[in-house]
Amino acid sequence: MTDTVTADPIDEFVRGHDFKLLIDGEMRSADDGTTMTSVDPSTGDVVAHVPSASAADVARAYDAAAAAQPAWEGLGVDGRAAVFARFAEAIEANEVRLATLDAIDGGLPLAAALIDIKISLANIRDWPTLVRWHGGRTIPASPGNLHYTSHRPYGVVGKILAYNHPAMFAITRMLAALIAGNAVILKPAPQVPLSALALGEIARDVFPAGVFNVLSGGAEAGDAIVTHPGIKRIGFTGSVATGLKIQQRAATSGVKHVSLELGGKNPMVVFPDADLDLAVEAAVNGMNFGVCAGQSCGSNSRNYIHSEIYEQFVGRVAERLEAMRVAPAYAEAVDMGPVVTREHYDRVMSFVRSGTDEGARLVTGGERPNGSTPDGGFFVRPTLFADVSPSMRIGREEIFGPVMSMAPWKDEREVIALANDTELGLTASVWTRDLDTAHQVADQLQAGYVWVNDTGRHYWGTPFGGAKNSGLGKEESIEEYESYMEQKAVHVILHRKAR
Ligand code: NAD
Repeated sequence: MTDTVTADPIDEFVRGHDFKLLIDGEMRSADDGTTMTSVDPSTGDVVAHVPSASAADVARAYDAAAAAQPAWEGLGVDGRAAVFARFAEAIEANEVRLATLDAIDGGLPLAAALIDIKISLANIRDWPTLVRWHGGRTIPASPGNLHYTSHRPYGVVGKILAYNHPAMFAITRMLAALIAGNAVILKPAPQVPLSALALGEIARDVFPAGVFNVLSGGAEAGDAIVTHPGIKRIGFTGSVATGLKIQQRAATSGVKHVSLELGGKNPMVVFPDADLDLAVEAAVNGMNFGVCAGQSCGSNSRNYIHSEIYEQFVGRVAERLEAMRVAPAYAEAVDMGPVVTREHYDRVMSFVRSGTDEGARLVTGGERPNGSTPDGGFFVRPTLFADVSPSMRIGREEIFGPVMSMAPWKDEREVIALANDTELGLTASVWTRDLDTAHQVADQLQAGYVWVNDTGRHYWGTPFGGAKNSGLGKEESIEEYESYMEQKAVHVILHRKAR
């Protein structure tokens, strides 16, 4: 059963609602009473004030999590699976509420936000089954000896999140840690606290007190999680700059296991024999305009199109972008919502200016929509630059917005060098009907996740994570589960009789 869509989403789900931190099974204000604002990017209006956690709140959440974790681990997979089943039911009953909150403060079109919740639900249901099949190893050794490995949770895990899929990240990125028997302290991004705090309310009635804690806040709360000496495992999703800081700061309070899901400047390489219809569609879909206004780590923001089909490709993608309806995230007819904040809008626009200043060809977009959106909202039309070179800012830096670039190529070796000419290596995509070329190029592209004749799609079960400066560690797979446990080797003497 699900709740129902409402006519006035802010009135229904936000106004008059007291959003609180979840610590030790209780909904609490921040220890020092500090709050921060939640802003609707479709209008620019402040819609709520929510707690901004401090180091004192992190310390309290840690104590609760550390106290609750042994019993949670003691439940075993069966016990935790039963809690996950109840959690899935509770999320399903609140799916419209969670999705609407993401539309309100994250700017995700409601339909896309609902898909995020459906994906999260499938994940909650998948994890217990997956981990039942997970085992350790036995290692053949000398006669009379048995070596085996076992896995134990770290204890308390800190999860710090980026803003682009608020509810989906808040749900899916703590599941592996929890099913492995850890307790979790989760900090959503400060731009999008609403769905994570609502998730806290939902989880309070499902998880034992202290097992799952939600703290909205900014860098101070994040740093307190990273530097807490008891938190040995940190899972981070966000920018490269913050990821690098986190690695440094984590090391100030002990040896820590840090996984980093960071940014991308992802190439899509199209050969002249590619299926053009599919490739054009995938170039547009892979940018995730319709999901989160292009604010996606895995977007194919750099597109290298063979010169024989280049102008045609540019024209067809531009046509698709021009047809997109940019509107408030909870409007009925919307293909793309706003970017997340005024600050980010200004940043995206500064990239647009630098593109034209540095000589790229602005094919479409690069401006606010004409009259169709509220004046205060942070809207940018889907934007396409052609003739982008790697020396331009828009050709090198992650924009994390609805801006894609294209450039023509003729020589295969040159285009692979171009595609790899970046510090980042999250995703890449190659388009051709030639099997040899496909495998050869996939092999040479320096990225953690490569699509052949596709973009954007995540297959849960396949490890997702960056190469180069795009990250450390894998998620969405059994590798993620293993990364939330320490491996122990046990050596057993079975007997001492000589053969
Ligand atoms: P960000 O780095 O600004 O913030 C991410 C989180 O880190 C936020 O919760 C923030 O409060 C927290 N934080 C900031 N400073 C901190 C500090 N000193 N110590 C601890 N925590 C701190 O990133 P963002 O703007 O929210 O997200 C956009 C970035 O995230 C992009 O680069 C994007 O590519 C990346 N991203 C990567 C993935 C992935 O799976 N690889 C997914 C989504 C987003």
